[in-house]
Amino acid sequence: MTMTFAELTTMRVGGPIGRLEVARSTPHAIDLLRDAGDTDEPLLVLGGGSNLVVGDVGWDGTVVRMASGEFDIDGELVTAAAGVEWDHLVRTVLAAGLSGVEALSGIPGSVGGTPVQNVGAYGTVTSDVLESVTVFDRTTDEVEVWSPERCGFGTHRMSVFKHSDRWVVLDVTYRLRRGGQSAPVTFPAVAKRLGIEVGGTADPADVREAVLEQRRARGMVLDAADHDTWSVGSFFLNPVLAEVPDRARECPGQPDAKGTKLHAAWLIQHAGFGPGYGSDWGNGTVSLSTRHTLALTNRGGATTADVLKFAAHIRDGVQSTFDVDLTPECHLVNCSF
Ligand SMILES: Cc1cc2nc3c(=O)[nH]c(=O)nc-3n(C[C@H](O)[C@H](O)[C@H](O)COP(=O)(O)OP(=O)(O)OC[C@H]3O[C@@H](n4cnc5c(N)ncnc54)[C@H](O)[C@@H]3O)c2cc1C
Repeated sequence: MTMTFAELTTMRVGGPIGRLEVARSTPHAIDLLRDAGDTDEPLLVLGGGSNLVVGDVGWDGTVVRMASGEFDIDGELVTAAAGVEWDHLVRTVLAAGLSGVEALSGIPGSVGGTPVQNVGAYGTVTSDVLESVTVFDRTTDEVEVWSPERCGFGTHRMSVFKHSDRWVVLDVTYRLRRGGQSAPVTFPAVAKRLGIEVGGTADPADVREAVLEQRRARGMVLDAADHDTWSVGSFFLNPVLAEVPDRARECPGQPDAKGTKLHAAWLIQHAGFGPGYGSDWGNGTVSLSTRHTLALTNRGGATTADVLKFAAHIRDGVQSTFDVDLTPECHLVNCSF
């Protein structure tokens, strides 16, 4: 039976998959990637499908879904195969007495997805704890171990892996810490919940719970019964601008290497699109999350066309109100807006 992307992505939209292969281990993934390289069929690598929107036409080629589950803890180094579910890894390393990734609790997707967009939340980004990445180079057919410097992090949510199908992440090694204390807690609401100063530390398990509480309140923990979580998380990037237009001066921002990073959620909300906006717009299949204006959500029965029409509506509203262009954070495949 033909599977669709709607069945394998968290936004639950997208058409049929030409040929689906599931990589059960790293050697199996390498075999599948080499086989795919021997044909002219286009290849798409899929992890947890939590940052991906594919067109209603689907993908007329091979999809390799990374489901490799091996991982190893060696002192403070943790190596996990690309297919390991990210939050399963977080739970496991915390239970093993390690810390460093507690602020990244509750993020959907796979280990392989973490360097792709340098996954981050609540003051921690993947590159803070990244030791190395094992990649398969589809051009040379070689397996290589890369240091973080080669991954092209630096710009918000970017890496050399994003928007390139040359390199496939096979496994990731993280350098964590022992000692019973979390990384410094820099997110004010999490610090407050823990009763500590911003920059202080706490029991990593308590930090995880505080982060999960924050995430649930924003509809950012997957729950099949909760349409606010039928999303890709933040649909748009926080825009980084060399010069902030006059009309956007009020928007909260942070200094960034390339200028100022503005808060996309604020821009959306102040352009007139509040939480839940859109339920009476279009055909009712999409709306903003009722808890977070940066999440575009599928209310049931949405197509990719519905989601992108709505995304264009929000983008255009922000552009005409603030003169700021929003661009998608998620990967759009065989579709655009
Ligand atoms: C409710 C919700 C909350 C979220 N919260 C956050 C958050 O707090 N912070 C954050 O950063 N993100 C967040 N996200 C986005 C998403 O969870 C992350 O980007 C995640 O890392 C995507 O991983 P994935 O395995 O699901 O990737 P997929 O969606 O399967 O793929 C995304 C892209 O990565 C590529 N890819 C996947 N695996 C590999 C691999 N092994 N090698 C090479 N390329 C690969 C795919 O080809 C595709 O281009 C959230 C998403 C949702 C739905």
